[in-house]
Amino acid sequence: MTDKQSLFPTLPQLNACVKACTRCPRLVKFRENVPEKKQFADQTYWKKPVPGFGDKDAYLLILGLAPSAQGGNRTGRIFTGDESARFLFKALHKEGFANQPTSEHLHDGLELHDCYLTASVKCVPPDNKPTAAEQKHCFPYLVNEFFLLKKISAVLVLGGFAFEAYLQYVKAHGGPKIPHRFRHGEKHAIQGFPDLYTCYHPSPQNTNTGKLNQHMLCSVLKQIKKDRPSS
Ligand code: SF4
Repeated sequence: MTDKQSLFPTLPQLNACVKACTRCPRLVKFRENVPEKKQFADQTYWKKPVPGFGDKDAYLLILGLAPSAQGGNRTGRIFTGDESARFLFKALHKEGFANQPTSEHLHDGLELHDCYLTASVKCVPPDNKPTAAEQKHCFPYLVNEFFLLKKISAVLVLGGFAFEAYLQYVKAHGGPKIPHRFRHGEKHAIQGFPDLYTCYHPSPQNTNTGKLNQHMLCSVLKQIKKDRPSS
């Protein structure tokens, strides 16, 4: 898939294409060779690209960096089965965006309400660092998600990488330049585009150090709910 190819008309069609994608050789090799942990010895690791999931009528898009090695790359669902997911879903459930406070595996009954979750890059990268070329390869999938999620009025970026990915989307679609760097807890109204909200990524390196706590994440989600345009 390239920028110039036509967009998939439905999320299932898009996500089927994402799951079969082999466009980035380095990431294909890495995702297929992630070391498997003993505690998951009874499971078959996903080891493929991880598409977005959630409510197709969502007004909130939550954008992360990429699947994690033992989370999305193991379970096949973004923000599922790792510490980041546990932290994020506790808050999403508390604020009414999820039907349960946990996200552990594909068949755990999790449903999202008013919210869709996806990653800027759909394959797990070494050291959580995709290259610029890999991000460029994957960017059309994010563009297609924005095209299909017609009701999105807010984008919550989790961390600086997702922040830059959303700004890239805005720029690529003729939007204004945002003269700011990523900082937690900000809102940027962008003429003609969904409002941008910022939050530190809920990775253990942020949550275990207290850089991000539940109150901080819930405050951002509360603000997004408060700002929701009336339909
Ligand atoms: S990162 Fe995106 S473009 Fe690259 S192989 Fe994975 S799904 Fe395909």
